[in-house]
Amino acid sequence: MLTRIKDLATTLAPRLVEIRRHIHLHPELSGQEYQTSAFVAGVLSSSGLHVEEGVGKTGVIGELQGTKQNDRVLAIRTDMDALPIQERSGLDYASRIEGVMHACGHDVHTTVGLGTAMVLSQVATELEGNVRFLFQPAEEIAQGANWMVKDGVMDNVSAILGVHVFPSIPAGSIGIRYGALTAAADNLEIIIIGESGHGARPHEAVDAIWIASQVITALQQAISRTQNPLRPVVLSIGQINGGRAPNIIADKVQLLGTVRSLHPETRAQLPNWIESIVSNLCNSYGAKYQVNYRQGVPSVQNDYALTQLLQSSAEEAWSSEFVQVLPEPSLGAEDFSVYLEHAPGSMFRLGVGYKDRIINHPLHHPQFEVDESAIITGVVTLAYAAYKYWQLK
Ligand SMILES: [Zn+2]
Ligand SMILES: [Zn+2]
Repeated sequence: MLTRIKDLATTLAPRLVEIRRHIHLHPELSGQEYQTSAFVAGVLSSSGLHVEEGVGKTGVIGELQGTKQNDRVLAIRTDMDALPIQERSGLDYASRIEGVMHACGHDVHTTVGLGTAMVLSQVATELEGNVRFLFQPAEEIAQGANWMVKDGVMDNVSAILGVHVFPSIPAGSIGIRYGALTAAADNLEIIIIGESGHGARPHEAVDAIWIASQVITALQQAISRTQNPLRPVVLSIGQINGGRAPNIIADKVQLLGTVRSLHPETRAQLPNWIESIVSNLCNSYGAKYQVNYRQGVPSVQNDYALTQLLQSSAEEAWSSEFVQVLPEPSLGAEDFSVYLEHAPGSMFRLGVGYKDRIINHPLHHPQFEVDESAIITGVVTLAYAAYKYWQLK
């Protein structure tokens, strides 16, 4: 079966590169993936899958029927949205859309999803159960997975696989990771309310800017002294709004930030922990405050058995030399984790770096480029892992 899958993928390679370039030329922003999803639906239908459009707003699902009717459904998720970035790659097939670019490789993910569906549709009689392909919109704004789940895409799904390109791994290799792959990313807003006054008479006012600066410092210091250093927490305040004039003491400051963590137990105590630090400082200096902690996406926690399935599939397909077991997670976020609240899963990193280049530009860079030979690596890994999935106990 592996040889058949590899042969099918190799035959499809030129078509898949065409598909990828087509999508790359016509990127669409999060939640506006109209042409991309229509294109995806067309390819899936012509491969004989049962297709539903308009799932999760602009998403698509394609269901491939296995013959032996094991009732465990395997889902494979790829995302389709692009970023508000002006492409500067200089490629012939650079984005034709002003200010919009596939700089996170979701064009490659979509292509890998389609390629896997095309390959598996040729060997459907050998599949023990159904494979459901999820083509998700709006990953970059961390909304699409929620939209998809609300529309029932995880009903009956017993496991899910996902993929993300990675420029620092060379094309031809993949990276897998046991346990945490990405961080939980939550949003933080702190409002400090003091009392305005003359800059020359601070004792008659409550200086919200000064208190805000104490709050920021206290939070950073408290992380280093009160959070377990083996359970990382990163808190970054990225925006401060407050004050009206150089000689007026500010009565209100708003701090906006992001809070990243890897362990669910650590994450659960963060809202109270932050609030107590803010509250202690504000109470000491006579200010009022509000802390609005909004949970974003959880951390991606890869399932052991499914990660092993990806590892063994890729190692059989090539050799262990092309499979990196990643020692560290990333503190980036990925809404693949939303599906993992409904079924176990594993996401792997698909190497897209050019081996002969010293610099491969990072994700979200206007000159981000991928070595397209990686598409086949992704397709074979996913197709073969899918074939082997029903052999798992
Ligand atoms: Zn991205
Ligand atoms: Zn991405």
